Amino acid sequence: MNEKKYDIIIIGSGMGGLVCADILSREGYKVCVLEKNKQIGGCLQTYVRDRVIFDSGVHYLGGLGEGQNLYQVFKYLGIINNLKLRKMDEDGFDKILIENDDKQYVFAQGYENFIERMLKDFPEEEKAIRAYCDKIKEVCSKFPLYNLRAGGDINEKTSVLGIDTRTFIESITDDKKLQAVLVGNSMLYVLQSNKTPFYVPAMILNSYIESSWKCVDGGSQIGKLLVKNIREHGGEIIRHAEVKKIIVEEGKVSSVELANGTRMYADSFISNMHPSRTLEMTETDIIKQAYRSRIKNLENSIGGFVVNLVFKEDSYKYVSNNYYYLKDGYVWNLMEHTDENWPLTYSVFFSASSKSTEYADSMTILAYMRFDEVKQWADTFNTVADEHDRGESYEVFKQRKAEQLIDCVQEKFPGLRSHIKTYYVATPLSYRDYIGSDDGSMYGIVKDYSNPLKTFISARTKIPNLYLTGQNLNLHGILGATMSGLVTCVAFLGSEDIIDKIRNA
Ligand SMILES: Cc1cc2nc3c(=O)[nH]c(=O)nc-3n(C[C@H](O)[C@H](O)[C@H](O)COP(=O)(O)OP(=O)(O)OC[C@H]3O[C@@H](n4cnc5c(N)ncnc54)[C@H](O)[C@@H]3O)c2cc1C
Repeated sequence: MNEKKYDIIIIGSGMGGLVCADILSREGYKVCVLEKNKQIGGCLQTYVRDRVIFDSGVHYLGGLGEGQNLYQVFKYLGIINNLKLRKMDEDGFDKILIENDDKQYVFAQGYENFIERMLKDFPEEEKAIRAYCDKIKEVCSKFPLYNLRAGGDINEKTSVLGIDTRTFIESITDDKKLQAVLVGNSMLYVLQSNKTPFYVPAMILNSYIESSWKCVDGGSQIGKLLVKNIREHGGEIIRHAEVKKIIVEEGKVSSVELANGTRMYADSFISNMHPSRTLEMTETDIIKQAYRSRIKNLENSIGGFVVNLVFKEDSYKYVSNNYYYLKDGYVWNLMEHTDENWPLTYSVFFSASSKSTEYADSMTILAYMRFDEVKQWADTFNTVADEHDRGESYEVFKQRKAEQLIDCVQEKFPGLRSHIKTYYVATPLSYRDYIGSDDGSMYGIVKDYSNPLKTFISARTKIPNLYLTGQNLNLHGILGATMSGLVTCVAFLGSEDIIDKIRNA
């Protein structure tokens, strides 16, 4: 019996899944999004503690100035004018702090402004700073979709995929401090020495240098606006709907089975889950063992340990920039911390609240944490909708690490503790349980300059009606996951017309 109800089922309501659902429902397809969580959005989710809104995975956005790439996609989707955004400090959206150095090095918005500000700290290094900016722009220009260009040559980008970030940075300057500063906000792209291809930081930094924005009252507004659109186009979003199996019959996916045993049918399926999770759930020999092993063995990025501070009322001044800290002497191996010397890097974000532009109600501190550091609690599971205690030892661990992190941050932010009312902590286990990855990785599959095609995941699979989307395809971040959504739509529709529509919106 065929109980088909939808044209397309999308598994997961992260940014990539929602972009696909919005575009394809707009194109007339009957779409249904299945989300395992209570809240939609994946990393767009926010949570409220002590009446303060915290983001889980959107601290700032780039490319939202008029005519820039994310702006243009959001314009096409009709959400740009409804977003509550606040532009960050044009003369320094990111400030780099280095241990044993009192200076604050700035990343400014606008390329000429960026160069001018950087030259104040490195007056002898104009050639290197210009070479850095030129390379970012050159690399970005090779990615047609990033520039919303249809009909691009697939080979255009191959010339830049093999550039290693470290080798490139070391080739433009011998000044160790400038090298450190230029990759000072590398938590944005989890820099790995002799691995991270330069196109990853280039595409991310370009969007922030073009323009940097905070979502006022959190990034979940993006998901809410997209959900409103999808419903208006006749689509459905079902929450608390965890997909457990992707069922293949007669050479294609016929349905998915939910945790409660319900089967849902559609003509086509798009998975916003991690590709290795998707393959695990899909029992079929159409997908060869070699491909399964390749995907399973791809390395995921490191996870994050987050301390969300709630400030006492009207106590801590709001600043419209982020901070990134580097421990002296550590630039290229920031993930190789021990329990004692952790953190080797951290970032600090202030949420933009509609309550005040003068005072911050909170501060988020993010540091790296490997999954092995929380592995002893790996067999626990805890979300708001499915609450379980991970045990006393986990609480003790979280508090010890939070205190260690706050102590380190306080060295650069004197008196910080006196402003803190309380704090809340998330570990790689929190991200694993909310997002559904295996290991709480922040940004999914790690890219490798030495074998770039191995770490590119296609939106198509060997099963003709099963597609993939999300950060693991091309690039992470809200911009990256949005672009992945476009890649998936182009693969599904078999045409790039959608890119023209977006460019001309
Ligand atoms: C700590 C942190 C900070 C970040 N900061 C920024 C930032 O400042 N700016 C920025 O641009 N990006 C940031 N990012 C990255 C960005 O948030 C992500 O790259 C992006 O949101 C990922 O989108 P996605 O489409 O891959 O979906 P995901 O967000 O990974 O969502 C996947 C969805 O699928 C659902 N799902 C999984 N399994 C199932 C199942 N079996 N059944 C049903 N549903 C399922 C999940 O619940 C989830 O909703 C940050 C990420 C992290 C972790």
